[in-house]
Amino acid sequence: MTAAVLICAAPALWATYTWGSQLVALGSARRGRRVGRMAALTFDDGPDPRHTPAVLDILARERVSAAFFLIGARAEAEPHIARRISADGHDLGNHTWSHKSLWICSPAETRQEIGRGHHAIAAAAGRPPQFFRPPWGMTNLAMFGAVRHLDTPCVLWSVQPEGRRAVSAADLVRRAAQATRPGAILDLHDADGVPGAGARLTQALPALIDVLRGAGYTLVPLRDLL
Ligand SMILES: [Zn+2]
Repeated sequence: MTAAVLICAAPALWATYTWGSQLVALGSARRGRRVGRMAALTFDDGPDPRHTPAVLDILARERVSAAFFLIGARAEAEPHIARRISADGHDLGNHTWSHKSLWICSPAETRQEIGRGHHAIAAAAGRPPQFFRPPWGMTNLAMFGAVRHLDTPCVLWSVQPEGRRAVSAADLVRRAAQATRPGAILDLHDADGVPGAGARLTQALPALIDVLRGAGYTLVPLRDLL
């Protein structure tokens, strides 16, 4: 293949690798069963020494079992928190080693980000993660083989009250309540990607649990919802 052909083909190959994989993910990522008024809380980007212990305290008080999608490097730095998440009975998910977008990862880097994250979380928490979630939900074609190899299904979400732009704790609760449907998987953040996300979540969480229960939802572990 000449250089000119390669240059012309590169954008198409990249689009298939990234955007094409998003279409596959839409079809294959695990979703909640739409049976009964059940929903699952999931937390990304921790463990965070400032916010995750407070989130765990709230969940224990409210008797809610949730899922934590940990960043491998953070789990390695805060193994006592990762271990507590596991000991408290929450589901564990892998959110890659360093929270790099898979859109800019080659197949080898993808396997490295997923594999290194998985093993770091397993070592820190004392048991391996059951699920995988790519940062920002951005997938690539190499991800599917890597998660199959580790037996960690890719789980995205159906409700994300705070995305890339900060929203107040009150708005976070309101948005979650409006968007939640039977089988919802709520995507929350117990650490800062967006600045202040962990603090806003900790502030919002008790009211969020109240409002969902008030609407008749039972908050179930992710493993039970899927
Ligand atoms: Zn994330």
